[in-house]
Amino acid sequence: MSLGFRVLVGRLASRTQHWRNIVTVSHYTPFTATVLGLPRVGPQRELKRATESYWAGRIDAGQLHAVARDLRRTQLAELQAAGLDSIPVGTFSYYDQVLDTAALLGALPPRVAGIADPLDRYFAAARGTDTVEPLEMTKWFDTNYHYLVPEICPDTAFSLHPEQLLEQLREALAAEVPARPVVVGPITFLKLAKASGGSALDRLGELVPLYGELLRLLAAAGAEWVQLDEPVVVTDLTDDEIELIGNTYAELSAAKDRPAILVATYFGKPGAALTALAGTEIEGIALDFTAVTELSEVVAVPALAGKLLVAGVVDGRNVWRADLDRALATLGTLLGSATTVAVSSSCSLLHVPYTLDTETGLDAQLRSWLAFGAEKVAEVRLLATALNEGTETITTELGTVRAALASRRADIRLDDPKVRARLAALGPDALRRAPAEQRRVLQAERLRLPALPTTTIGSYPQTSAIRLARAALRKGDIDNAEYVRRMRAEIADVVALQEKLGLDVLVHGEPERNDMVQYFAEQLDGFAATEAGWVQSYGTRCVRPPILYGDVARRTPMTVDWISYAQSLTDKPVKGMLTGPVTILAWSFVRDDQSLADSARQVALAIRDETVDLQAAGIRIVQVDEPALRELLPLRAADQPAYLDWSVQAFRLATSGVSDATQVHTHLCYSEFGEVIDAIAGLDADVTSIEAARSHMEVLDDLNAAGFDLGVGPGVYDIHSPRVPSVEEITTSLRAALKAVPAERLWVNPDCGLKTRGPVEVEAALRNMVAAAAAVR
Ligand code: GLN
Ligand code: ZN
Repeated sequence: MSLGFRVLVGRLASRTQHWRNIVTVSHYTPFTATVLGLPRVGPQRELKRATESYWAGRIDAGQLHAVARDLRRTQLAELQAAGLDSIPVGTFSYYDQVLDTAALLGALPPRVAGIADPLDRYFAAARGTDTVEPLEMTKWFDTNYHYLVPEICPDTAFSLHPEQLLEQLREALAAEVPARPVVVGPITFLKLAKASGGSALDRLGELVPLYGELLRLLAAAGAEWVQLDEPVVVTDLTDDEIELIGNTYAELSAAKDRPAILVATYFGKPGAALTALAGTEIEGIALDFTAVTELSEVVAVPALAGKLLVAGVVDGRNVWRADLDRALATLGTLLGSATTVAVSSSCSLLHVPYTLDTETGLDAQLRSWLAFGAEKVAEVRLLATALNEGTETITTELGTVRAALASRRADIRLDDPKVRARLAALGPDALRRAPAEQRRVLQAERLRLPALPTTTIGSYPQTSAIRLARAALRKGDIDNAEYVRRMRAEIADVVALQEKLGLDVLVHGEPERNDMVQYFAEQLDGFAATEAGWVQSYGTRCVRPPILYGDVARRTPMTVDWISYAQSLTDKPVKGMLTGPVTILAWSFVRDDQSLADSARQVALAIRDETVDLQAAGIRIVQVDEPALRELLPLRAADQPAYLDWSVQAFRLATSGVSDATQVHTHLCYSEFGEVIDAIAGLDADVTSIEAARSHMEVLDDLNAAGFDLGVGPGVYDIHSPRVPSVEEITTSLRAALKAVPAERLWVNPDCGLKTRGPVEVEAALRNMVAAAAAVR
């Protein structure tokens, strides 16, 4: 036993003695090295494939469970071999951890209750069926992971269904894994839920006893520790809510026969909630030290001194190798204030790829700067060893890390003087166009569009021919010339279809884009793509976010050939389609050595160059999509104005290089604008297309109220469903829109891109849309 560890145990023993006198005590062994949660889709996306096979009826539930069990067994064994002495279990999920919590608490929506099979009932809540609407999906805090929003209605009768979690716990304990069950905590669960009739938090009183019972069952099954995730404490909470947190955990920790409780916070600073939690008898708190910069805030909470502080010093959501020296300094400070400290990732490893092992395509330098899931586990272990046995035990590893970090700092790709000089030379005029009214006149003259112009958002169905061509190119079965020929054939089809349907502003259909961010990242200096860096986005959908590591520069035009080709086939205007800087950053792993605002300006400059080249090639409309503008919004209101300021500036930098006669469009993928509504006006795009089909145009009133007076295309039908809307329905939508927006500002379009839809339904829906526009004109 190491000296540090003996000191630790001694400290805990005396503390236990102390507790014995005041409350019911749980005996527990502190741990030293852990992570807060695990990815589950499988290193080769095995779970994704098995789940989709199950949905398609190719395998049965038994086979799906077997794949899941295998994945869990291998993963736990690896973590144990890597030296973690407390390992999360129960973060495995067939779809989503919030949905799992709803199932655990008997809170699946009543409309799926009739489905007898529990697995099918669960998937019905996640994805819907022919007759059942799924739960809504939304972003997990400020990450790109999407969770399912639990629905709490007056008839929700909470009840405990712990079988799945208990089974995973038993499975782990049988393999002698030091298992720590993880459950979303009651406050976060209710805060994320949608309640009909009152606030979901009003139901807390019903949940706490269930959590108490769950703790008892987990302890009885052999869990020494349990982790309750409460990331909601890093958002703005009212004083009452903070008091509720204190009371809830006071009650849960007063229970007899329970495991030691670790409350996990991540993605930000817990603020006042930290004091409330520290004042209860919970045994541990996990804090995100990649987000909590001011250590002093933590050190200043004396009640923490008696608890196990699980220090998230290894960034769980970005891919950079940890600066071990800095992490050790943080850990040292924490230990110095008489705290028992364990080392951890800052959050679940759900948000990073499994391992760097498969990344053979990255250059050696770049690779040495990175750490994916497995490498982060190794970092946690190293830090815990250094903390408990002294830094001299990891001298070699420290040397390697220092060398890697030094090579990163010195790499010329991180500092492109040309890009920096261009940005520094841009004056305020570079972000300004003529007043909107003036632009409107110039553009109307040039474009000669009818009233209520019809258009689409950009993509057309990604047919199997497109996917096959992409795969064949990757495998080397076809050469680039053949690939281009096939893509051009797709473009020609899409243009011909739009001509036939009578749309006014055409698009090329985006067949050449696997993904609206990756497509650009692959062509820009400063970005690297991974081979197998898959991260779960939601359910079985996985993405491979590019890695932004250096200064961004555009080598050559990225879209001009495709768009010009489409324009050469028609006299109608074809939109040049681009992705905006905020969205490119939101869906990438970003640099941590400069601010997001600085990175955004560099990306914006590259997009700006592209818009200018499109214009020079005769393109009269450019569209810069920013579907992620709201996604990146900081969790705390106090941080939002600065974000909105730089993100709007970046968009304007990207779009104000063109002449006033070139029409700038943007597309945003949502209709609940909330905090970003002023920013939307600030973008100053000539035309903004938004989602509105599901919110029945109320969104236009919100925009008006914010003083927005530019062109707007509220989606007139919902592309998220395969249903073809009738002419009458779309006509009704348009009439509703005309109550809020004068005809000269109104555009007619679906509410998002069409790439996930089938060609037959797309043609039918667009035909009806064009007919409806004609009728209303
Ligand atoms: N232009 C993109 C498309 O149509 C926009 C996608 C999006 O909004 N997410 O596919
Ligand atoms: Zn969209």
